[in-house]
Amino acid sequence: MFSEDQLLPISALQHLLFCERQCALIHVERLWVENRLTAEGQQLHKKAHDGKPESRDGVRITRGLPLHSLNLGLAGQADVIEWEPPSVRLGTTLAAAIRTATSVERHRWRITPVEYKRGKSKHNDCDRVQLCAQAICLEEMLDVSIPSGAIFYGEPRRREPVDFSPELRETTANAARRLHQIIDGRLTPPAVKTKMCENCSLVHLCLPNVTSHTRSAKAWIEKILDAT
Ligand code: SF4
Repeated sequence: MFSEDQLLPISALQHLLFCERQCALIHVERLWVENRLTAEGQQLHKKAHDGKPESRDGVRITRGLPLHSLNLGLAGQADVIEWEPPSVRLGTTLAAAIRTATSVERHRWRITPVEYKRGKSKHNDCDRVQLCAQAICLEEMLDVSIPSGAIFYGEPRRREPVDFSPELRETTANAARRLHQIIDGRLTPPAVKTKMCENCSLVHLCLPNVTSHTRSAKAWIEKILDAT
């Protein structure tokens, strides 16, 4: 269990799953390079977070809700959450509905976190893990069950459902543990040049062609073992 001052950003999970070195460069060494893709991503999140809560066809929608999980040691914001409490009187606020519902009633609610992403659906789990972490935060904070969520991709503009399976939850918990290991231990892994480097905004700071030869994977593993 983590304390509030130990919480790390949920968004860092995405950097971690993209490349552990990129994650450490951003969150340990505080390096960041804005490019067209990162700027578009920030803009999309800002748009998703802006705006008032609303109700549409019985679905209540909140934006930019702060989240945290002391079990995972993570905190962040949910772009959009759709709430479908079945029998809440008109005029009752969502906060009041959450406060007055019994645990059994809350577990019957349909709650769907929706994350907005520029670009296409990815082959790896980085977006799904980020969304799953949001769901785990909500479950822990509100004593609810969230079996699934959705990611809205900009290309093409479509919504992809995400099932929070036991496997995805385990991947998310492992990623959160690894994130703490890297950031709390202030460990920056050596570069390993892969196809991902072509899309990495930090490629000119990381210099994978140079650095991947200067620090061996063996030395990196020894450093982790020494620190644990
Ligand atoms: S350039 Fe490659 S190795 Fe370096 S941080 Fe980016 S993805 Fe990772």
